[in-house]
Amino acid sequence: MQRVDVAVVGGGPAGSAAGRAAAAEGADTLVLEKGVPRADREGLGPDSTDAAGILDYWVDIMDLDVPVPEHVKLRELNGADFIGPNESVEMDTTGIDSSYPNFGFTFQRARLDDWLRERAEDAGAEYRVGTGVGSVESDLTGRPSHRLTLKDGTEVETEYLILADGPQRTVTGQVLEPLLPDGKYDGLDATTANHIAYQEYREIPESLCEPDRLKFWWGHMPGHTAYPWVFPNDGRVARVGLTMPIGLDLDTVEDREEYALLRSDDERVPAGKEYVRRLLEYAYPSYDATDFPLQEDRGKRGGTETYPISSTRPIESPTRANVAVVGGAMGGTSAFHEGGDHVAIRTGKEAGRLAGLGALRAYNYEWQRAAGDEVRRNVVLADVVRDYGPDDWDRVFDVASAIQPDPGEGRAGWLDALRAGPAALGLFGRYQWGKFGVRDGGYCQIREDDYSV
Ligand SMILES: Cc1cc2nc3c(=O)[nH]c(=O)nc-3n(C[C@H](O)[C@H](O)[C@H](O)COP(=O)(O)OP(=O)(O)OC[C@H]3O[C@@H](n4cnc5c(N)ncnc54)[C@H](O)[C@@H]3O)c2cc1C
Repeated sequence: MQRVDVAVVGGGPAGSAAGRAAAAEGADTLVLEKGVPRADREGLGPDSTDAAGILDYWVDIMDLDVPVPEHVKLRELNGADFIGPNESVEMDTTGIDSSYPNFGFTFQRARLDDWLRERAEDAGAEYRVGTGVGSVESDLTGRPSHRLTLKDGTEVETEYLILADGPQRTVTGQVLEPLLPDGKYDGLDATTANHIAYQEYREIPESLCEPDRLKFWWGHMPGHTAYPWVFPNDGRVARVGLTMPIGLDLDTVEDREEYALLRSDDERVPAGKEYVRRLLEYAYPSYDATDFPLQEDRGKRGGTETYPISSTRPIESPTRANVAVVGGAMGGTSAFHEGGDHVAIRTGKEAGRLAGLGALRAYNYEWQRAAGDEVRRNVVLADVVRDYGPDDWDRVFDVASAIQPDPGEGRAGWLDALRAGPAALGLFGRYQWGKFGVRDGGYCQIREDDYSV
């Protein structure tokens, strides 16, 4: 049986970052990736669902040591548009201090993942792809250790276990559930706690191309933080997609006639493909969906991608068991799903570094120090917008336009809200109060003390 110091389950952004950091500390490190085929990658690799982009201040949160290389990047971004049924907001700055000069950039996710894998291998980690981890048995008597059995029967024993298996949490669930009181793990169950994302690679007519902006439509489809988007790729290709909670029952939706992407004869929530078609025809009314040809040689299969996204609050890890949960597996927030690649890379890096140093007990403290402000912001925003319908989104975009600070003035503050009137002040107050309510790690749905280790 192979014995290693650090085993990492999952080789996405979080797993590769963990592998690199652990190996860089001199630990014998193994990253285990089950391997997912993609039309635009030769051979198996991680489950690289293409992402929208990285915002300026996320670059600092990622803390990658070197800039993301040009071959990984697709576009520099200058802004994002948030479009409600009648109101919209154009954001040309994130308002958060950062070392990155532009609003952000878009990137080719498979290339990002391949580059992160290379960095892990260069640091000395073994990255094994092609067989998933089937089960884990933990021995917590004395010095903790974990025995992993791969789907092909191979066994690996490790002192430190880093769980980076993404939002499905197939291995994370097995490891954490027995350590928690009955029912406590239910909040992470992938069939109820997650969203589903669907996107298509489409060629956009020249006159509609906005290659330096992300576009999001809010209040057009029902469900908590359910929204469609257009994200620019290279050339005239963009990804048109959406995310929505799994298992939403249309009969429970109030005022359904107010959602522009629903039809009165819909008997159930439309499939992703249908939502994409409706979005294109709604957003670009003088065009037909066939004016946006599907790029079948892209993405996971036939120009389309489906992927689960964690929509839970994050969790602390059972570090006394020498276990760290990172990235999508540890959960992010529903408004800004999984916290994104930046939180995945940073939590992976912190866990790998500490496991490599034999100091994993500091992990919960360290990831919150590194990414806690971002996670807290997202948890609170998700709560503030939880029951929003189309009118609420119009109201909030109206307020957001009024509250936006002048260019170069940084983030909106109490004074901007006061100047913009009572609605702005109320919204700003709810957000600030929410942040206060989840201070000191209160945004985590499972705390370290909840584990019986
Ligand atoms: C459509 C979409 C758009 C997004 N847009 C953005 C964006 O614009 N910016 C951003 O920062 N983030 C974005 N995200 C979120 C981002 O993709 C995630 O936060 C990120 O992928 C999390 O990284 P991870 O390594 O934790 O998990 P994953 O990327 O999910 O990686 C987990 C890996 O574990 C592997 N695995 C699972 N089970 C096993 C097993 N049993 N054995 C071995 N391997 C296993 C999987 O194959 C996978 O490769 C987006 C997500 C989606 C779906």
